[in-house]
Amino acid sequence: MRKQIAAANWKMNLSQSEADSLLNELFQTAFHLAAHQEAIFAVPSIYIHQTKAKLAGKQNMYVAAQNCHQKNNGAFTGEIAAPMFASVGVKHIVLGHSERREYFTESDALLAEKVNAVLAIDSTPIFCCGEPLDIREAGNQNIFVEAQLKNSLFHLSAEQIVKVVIAYEPIWAIGTGKTATSEQAQEIHAYIRSVFASKYGQSIADQISILYGGSVKAANAKELFSQPDVDGGLVGGASLIASEFTAIINALQ
Ligand code: PEP
Repeated sequence: MRKQIAAANWKMNLSQSEADSLLNELFQTAFHLAAHQEAIFAVPSIYIHQTKAKLAGKQNMYVAAQNCHQKNNGAFTGEIAAPMFASVGVKHIVLGHSERREYFTESDALLAEKVNAVLAIDSTPIFCCGEPLDIREAGNQNIFVEAQLKNSLFHLSAEQIVKVVIAYEPIWAIGTGKTATSEQAQEIHAYIRSVFASKYGQSIADQISILYGGSVKAANAKELFSQPDVDGGLVGGASLIASEFTAIINALQ
């Protein structure tokens, strides 16, 4: 059974004590995640240790990094390498978020290197893709996203690609309050799966979790997650509010 995932992306938000309060508030709820369900917290790297401590003993809940460097070590001041994350128990790393593509000029080729670095330490890349508004308005979203996937992931073997989680995040829906309709999400998620099916075969494509991101909140999570090719969400703003993210976790199918 494909994994269903609620992933929080805190981005560059919260002080240490605010992070602590958020997790405390969140864990006032006892979550009952099924074997195929996961909750993941992509926190600022400086809070990985404290978040991991809070998650200790909690079933199917993991801390994640929001980015990593493509090299394993070296003179790259301020950067953090994938093996460093592995050494502190991080098993999931978000890659290619649209903010990193835009503000840090991360290219498809660079992201292919980062994907390799994460898979090399036996961790899960949460690979983000998604189109800007002008591409959506021109109706070219499928071609655009397909190119992102091909350029950064198609060098992987079938054994490797099933370890990757995809997060489809239309840029026009990130942090804007504008959510793709569940029909729009389903349509492009099904297309993404078909892209993998054409390269790796249907049974491999059926194993890949494809999350939707873009103004997911308590009010729309159930409807989005009920779509057959939407396997959960990558959540920014609403993951900073305990009651919202609790409801989003509970909306997993
Ligand atoms: C995100 O940061 O990946 C995201 C989808 O943000 P938001 O939920 O705030 O739109």
